[in-house]
Amino acid sequence: MSIYLDNAATTPLMPEAAQAMRQYYSADFYNPSAAYSQSQKIRDKIEECRSEIAELISAEPEEVFFTSGGTESDNWAINEGTRRRGHIMASAIEHKAVLSPLKEYGRKGGYFELIPVDEDGFVDTDFIKRKIRYNTVMLSVMTANNEIGTIEPIETIAHIAREYDVLFHTDAVQAFGHIPINVKEMAVDMMSASSHKFNGPKGVGFLYIRKDCGVKPFIFGGGQENGMRSGTENVPGIIGMAEAAKLSCKRMKEKSIHCRKLCEYMTGRIMSEIDDVRMNGTDDFDKRLPNNMSFSFKNVDAQSLLVLLDMHGINAAAGSACAGGGVSHVLKAIKTHKDYIGGTIRMSIDNRMNIQTADYVISVLKRMVSVARNNT
Ligand code: PLP
Repeated sequence: MSIYLDNAATTPLMPEAAQAMRQYYSADFYNPSAAYSQSQKIRDKIEECRSEIAELISAEPEEVFFTSGGTESDNWAINEGTRRRGHIMASAIEHKAVLSPLKEYGRKGGYFELIPVDEDGFVDTDFIKRKIRYNTVMLSVMTANNEIGTIEPIETIAHIAREYDVLFHTDAVQAFGHIPINVKEMAVDMMSASSHKFNGPKGVGFLYIRKDCGVKPFIFGGGQENGMRSGTENVPGIIGMAEAAKLSCKRMKEKSIHCRKLCEYMTGRIMSEIDDVRMNGTDDFDKRLPNNMSFSFKNVDAQSLLVLLDMHGINAAAGSACAGGGVSHVLKAIKTHKDYIGGTIRMSIDNRMNIQTADYVISVLKRMVSVARNNT
C-alpha cells in the first residue's frame, strides 16, 4: 500500500461517482442529441447535472458549460481574451493551461503582461491597478495555486476588473470542491474547474461564464452546450462529475478541517525537525489550500528525494505534475533561493491521511533528506 500525497495532481474517483456513471456507459449509452425518448432522458439528466453544479457555485444553470477539463476551460477563457485583441494580464504563477495560450497570443503579436507575486505567492494588486490600461480586455488570476497552495484575493481583483470593465477569469481547478466557491460573491466573469481534482472522473470539467458578458463559442460543430462548445457530450463524465461535486461540497468542511490540522502538524514538525528547509506559499493557513504543502530543502535534488520516498511507499511530487521538467515558474516567481529551488517537493493530502501516516511520512522524509544531501 502506498501513501498517496499527490492529490493536487489527481484524486481517486469516489465510489458514488463511479456508481452514478456506470449505467451511462452501457444501458443508457444514447447520444443526448437524438430524437427518441431514451435520448431525451439523457438530455434531462445532463441538464439536471448542470443545475446541480450551478447551485453549488451560486450560478444559473445556463452559465455552466461542460468541457473536457481544466485545460480546455482555461484555453476557452484565454481564447475569449485574445479574441478581443487587447491587453491581457495574468498572474505569473498561472497554470500552463493559461500561460501557454497567452504566450501563443504574444507570438502572434498580442500584448499580455504577467502580474508579479510576493514571496508568499499573493498577486500584486497594486501592479494591476498601475498597469491596467484603456485597452485591457482581460484579467486572469487563479483562485488557488497548484504548486504552493496560496489562495489569491479574488474578490479584490474582481473589484478592480469591474471598476475598469475588464473581463475577469479565475482558474479554480485546485479550489473548487476544496474551498467554498461562490461566483456571485467572488464577482468573477469566468471560472474554470476540473472534475478529477475533486474525486470525479478525468477528462471532464466545466467553465462558468457569467450571463451577458459577451463570451463567444469556443468549439464549433454540432451546436451542443447551447452552441458554445460543440461535440457529443461526455455523458458518464458529466454525471460522475456532478455527483463528485455534490459530495465534495457536502463533505468539504469536515475534510478541510481534517486536512488542515494534519498539514499544520506536518508543517510544524518538518520546519522544526529538518535543517535548512523553507515552506512555500503563505504560512497563514486561512489563506492556503487546506490540503497542500510545499517545501524546499537546501542542497537536495527533488527528483532523487522523490525516488527515495517512493522506495518507502510515499508518492509525492516535485512542483506540479505537469511542469514537464525544468525549474518551476511558480518557484521562480516567488523568488525561491537558488540553493533551495531544486529541492522542492509538494505533498497534497486527502482525508485518508491520519496522524500515524503523517508521523511515518515525516520520519521517512527526515531520513531521506539527509540521504539525498549526502549523495550530492
Ligand atoms: N489549472 C490548474 C491550476 C491545475 O492544477 C491543472 C491541473 O493540474 C489544470 C489547470 C489543468 O487541468 P486538467 O488536468 O483538468 O486539464
